[in-house]
Amino acid sequence: MKNPGIPKAAPDLRRHNMARLLSAVLDGADSKRGLQERTGLSWGTVSALANELLRKGYIVETGKEGFSAGRKTAVLDVNAGDHYVVGLDINASGLKAVVCDLKARVAERFRESVANPERNGVIGQLKALIASVLDRYRGKKFLALGVAVQGKVDTEAGVSLFLPYFAGWTNIDLRGILEREFDIPAYIYHDPDCVMASLSEPRADDLNYVLLRVEKGIGMSVATGGRILTGSRGINAEIGHTAVDPEGIQCYCGNRGCLEAYVNAERILNEYKRGADLESFLAAARRGDDGATGAALEAGRYLGLAISTICNIFNPATVFICSSYGQIFELARAELEKQIKNHVFGGKPPRVAILQSDGFAAAAGGAVFTARRLIDESRLF
Ligand SMILES: [Zn+2]
Repeated sequence: MKNPGIPKAAPDLRRHNMARLLSAVLDGADSKRGLQERTGLSWGTVSALANELLRKGYIVETGKEGFSAGRKTAVLDVNAGDHYVVGLDINASGLKAVVCDLKARVAERFRESVANPERNGVIGQLKALIASVLDRYRGKKFLALGVAVQGKVDTEAGVSLFLPYFAGWTNIDLRGILEREFDIPAYIYHDPDCVMASLSEPRADDLNYVLLRVEKGIGMSVATGGRILTGSRGINAEIGHTAVDPEGIQCYCGNRGCLEAYVNAERILNEYKRGADLESFLAAARRGDDGATGAALEAGRYLGLAISTICNIFNPATVFICSSYGQIFELARAELEKQIKNHVFGGKPPRVAILQSDGFAAAAGGAVFTARRLIDESRLF
């Protein structure tokens, strides 16, 4: 008698094993024999599934050769010439896109400033940006979109809940909008998590980290034991609108004295001189200009104070500050570290790593997460 479970289970097992094999190739190019050892799959399974992955174009035989039982064998690697994902970043500082292969290696980058900062304007511009990227790679297969979004994000539902820089931007069903438009899966993430994912080889002490993305606003990613913390329904925590001075300056969110009202690139530059750009600010700071150094120190003081509170709650080993304005925070490093040291309870203050961003870290991280998910969820086969 036929077991009714088998016909259904077998394709699932096959997809699962295929995902294991492709995942192993992603971790490192190897011969079939090497992949067999690393995955624990049988030789017959590895051989058959590798041939199928080759046929589908997900992997290629490289020119390199490995040795197995004294014989030369081909080394298999991810096919960098096809099967792309697009990583995107929706941020008040602009829209960015990166085209990546399954290994999340960036093939090309695109950047636009936001032309019309309201709901329909931004959605229209985003769709046009994606369409132009796909058109440029016509004939290639695009597997998915991975979108990093600033503000409050429901990653499970794929909804951008609130991004106050854009007028009317509440409860935007980004996943639905993009999947209907482009007919490929779309994943929505909180942008600082993506920034962290794009950093190369996190070390063991970075399993417990806090990352602050500081651009026009401050986003935060927190991980403990290597796991990114999310609140209920995958909705992220926020730090930008924590009060650092309840009687302080007005924040655009309606409250007074928010961290973000003091520590944002625009304010820091304007505190030195209205409309100043980063270069002139840094040049002034190097000359010892009081306005520029004072603005950097003030930002460092408020940011350091906020970080000390975060450290008292999460006790991270490392605090990353990732910003296109990283040099400003480097100028304020002594003040920032002093505040952390003075206000962290007991024990040793965390390492502070200030990273100068090229602006594409969130988009690239969106691609990293997406490539991994497509494989882990066996959505490719
Ligand atoms: Zn606020």
